[in-house]
Amino acid sequence: MRKLSVAFLTVSLLLLSIPPALSQRTSVGRIFPVYANGGKPDLTVDPQRFTSQMEIIDRFFDDGTCAIEEGAVGGTGYRRILRFDTVVINGGDADLIVGDRSDPNNPYAAFFEFAPCHGHYHIRDFSVYELLNLDGTTVVAGHKQGFCFEDSFKYDGGKSNGYNCGFQGITSGWGDWYYKQLTGQWIDITGVPEGDYIVRVTINRIGTFDEGQNRYPNRVETQIHVPSPRKKVDIDNSPALVDH
Ligand SMILES: [Zn+2]
Repeated sequence: MRKLSVAFLTVSLLLLSIPPALSQRTSVGRIFPVYANGGKPDLTVDPQRFTSQMEIIDRFFDDGTCAIEEGAVGGTGYRRILRFDTVVINGGDADLIVGDRSDPNNPYAAFFEFAPCHGHYHIRDFSVYELLNLDGTTVVAGHKQGFCFEDSFKYDGGKSNGYNCGFQGITSGWGDWYYKQLTGQWIDITGVPEGDYIVRVTINRIGTFDEGQNRYPNRVETQIHVPSPRKKVDIDNSPALVDH
């Protein structure tokens, strides 16, 4: 699980988030069992977790915050954001091993980029979050969420091999959880007119990682109704969180 900066939030998130995560990963584990993939990982997104945690809120963004520095919102002030959980599951029969940026022989060296707000490296261009019209045309073009890969919880298989943001990876059968309270786990929908839209998450979007047979999809989509921009939604101005 990702560590949080603020102790009381750790407690409240544990209380709020763990029970549904446990129940959902059990059922999703049956949908995404580890299969013989020729010794390769196969990455996919937990579709239940993606839809069950989705919500629209308003949030205030100050100058100098990570969200502004990382371009995760279109500007300062109150923004309306559509946020959700992304759990990247590895359903292949080998670990995703991304490793350590400081290793000169790391095959992914060109894809690491340092995230100053986070104090660690992310793999660039791994995922993109988009809002589309029902005919597939773009409404909000891709926010590219940075990822560092680690084991959060088990869906299938055995023990975690202990990957973290320092030595990154996802054990075969495990999932890496980015929860909706993390900076950038959203699409900025400020000003989007009321209507029905498609929310799409695409992972391994430029084929950075070899997924072998790649039986499990690299894309999840769901439909959502966006209320009028004039309609009030919940406000969340709790302290900003980034992954650690
Ligand atoms: Zn990070």
